[in-house]
Amino acid sequence: MTMHRYDEESEAIAQAALDYARRRITMDPPPLDGPLPEEVLRERVGQTITERGLGGLEALRVFVEELAPATISIDHPRFAAFVPAAPTKAAILFDLVVSASSIFGGTWLEGAGAVYAENQALAWLAGLTGLPEGAGGVFVSGGSAANLSGLVAARHAIAGRRGGRPARWRIACSVHAHSSVGAAARVMDADVLSVPEDERGRLTGPNLRAALARATPEERDALFAVVATAGTTNAGIVDDLAGLAEVCAEEGLWFHVDGAYGGAALAAPSVRHLFDGVERADSFVVDPHKWLFAPFDCAALLYARPLEAAHAHMQEAAYLDDVNVLCEWSPAHYAHHLSRRPRGLPFWFSLATHGTTAYRDAVETVLALTREVAAEIRGRSDLDLLLEPELSVVLFRRRGWGNAEYGAWSERLLREQVAFVLPTTWGGERVGRFCFVNPRTTIEDVRAILDTMG
Ligand SMILES: *Cc1c(COP(=O)(O)O)cnc(C)c1O
Repeated sequence: MTMHRYDEESEAIAQAALDYARRRITMDPPPLDGPLPEEVLRERVGQTITERGLGGLEALRVFVEELAPATISIDHPRFAAFVPAAPTKAAILFDLVVSASSIFGGTWLEGAGAVYAENQALAWLAGLTGLPEGAGGVFVSGGSAANLSGLVAARHAIAGRRGGRPARWRIACSVHAHSSVGAAARVMDADVLSVPEDERGRLTGPNLRAALARATPEERDALFAVVATAGTTNAGIVDDLAGLAEVCAEEGLWFHVDGAYGGAALAAPSVRHLFDGVERADSFVVDPHKWLFAPFDCAALLYARPLEAAHAHMQEAAYLDDVNVLCEWSPAHYAHHLSRRPRGLPFWFSLATHGTTAYRDAVETVLALTREVAAEIRGRSDLDLLLEPELSVVLFRRRGWGNAEYGAWSERLLREQVAFVLPTTWGGERVGRFCFVNPRTTIEDVRAILDTMG
C-alpha cells in the first residue's frame, strides 16, 4: 500500500475495512466484550509500530481480532453503566463519510457547507431550549470541553460588564454538578461555591439566594456564573432552572445549564416541563453522543449571545486575519479550539434522515422503559426504589447488600457477558444504578439483570 496513492492493495484494505464496518453496524446486539490487562494485550498483540509497517490487512486483523474485543460495546442494550450511547445507523455511516471528506470545520472559509449543516442541527437544539433568536454555538468533543468553553466565555463577558476583576473568580453549583465543572474551575484557577441541594438533590433558586445572602461582599463580587444541571449524571435530576434563572437575572450572574446527559429530554413532551427556565440560559450544553444517538465525540455548546463567546475565544494571529471576520460563522470562535472535525455532521445527517419526530419518539421510548423499570423494582420484595426517576436514571437498593456485593455482582455480569452495570453512591450509601439511553433496551433485558441480584 503506498501512503498517498490508491492502489490495488488499498482496494483490498478498503474492502476489508468496509466489510468489517458493515458487520459491526449490523450486529444485533454486538458482543459486550470488555477490558483485558495490559500484559495480556502485550502478549497477544505485541508491537504494532514497526519500521516497515504491518500492512493494512494485518493491522486491521489485529484490531478486529484483538483490540476491538478488548473494548466494551457502549451501544450494547445491556450497557446501563455511566451514560451509555446508542448511535443511529445513519449517524455511524455518516461518520465514515465525514472521515473520507477531509473537511476543516473551524472556519466558514474552509468548511462553509459543513458548518451550514451543523448550524441547522444546532438550531434544532436551540429551538428545543427556547433560547432567543440569534442563539448559536458549536459542536465540541464533549460536555467537559463544552462546560469549560462556556464558563470561559461567561467570565469574559461578566468581567467586561463589571469592569473589574476579583483576586479569584467563583462559580456556584451544587455537589451534584458534573465533575467537569470542578475541573473547569481548576483550569480557570477559580473557586467553587457549593450551594446546598434540596431534599430531591436539586439546586434551587431559594437555596442559591440563601447562599448569596450568607456570602461576604467579596465572595459575591467574585461570583460570575451559576451552573445548573439539567439531568444530573448520577441521578438524572433536573435543577430548578426557572428559579435559578431568576436569581441570576437579579444578581447579574451568567446562567450556564449543563444538559450534557439530560438535555436530550427537551425533545420529549412528557418531561419537557422539568426544563422550564432553560430558555433563560446564557449558555447551554447537550451531548448528542449521549442520548441523541450520535457517535463519539459530539457535544453541542449553545450561547444566547454568541458574539460574547467569540470575543472570549477568537484567536488572533497574522495568518488568521482573513477568517477572523465576525460576519461569517466560524466555529473556531465559539470554544477553546481552532482545528476541528465537523463532528456535528453525523448527528445532522441522522436528524436530516429520520426527522425530528423520530428523535422525540426514541427519547420517549427510553423514558417509558425507565418508568417500567421503576415499577418492576417497586414490585420486587428484595429491592427498593430510592428515587422516582425524572429522566432515565434509576437508583435502587438490593436489601442487605454493601459495597462488596455490588462490586462482585457488577464484575460477574461483565465477566459472564450478561450486562455492564456499576453501582454508585447515593445519600452516603452504595446503591444500584441504571442509566438508559438505548431505545433497543427492553424490559426483558432489565428483568434479566435484576434476576441476577437474587
Ligand atoms: C457526561 C457529562 C458531562 C461530561 O461530558 P463528556 O462528554 O463526558 O465530557 C458533563 N456534564 C454532565 C451533566 C454529564 O452527564
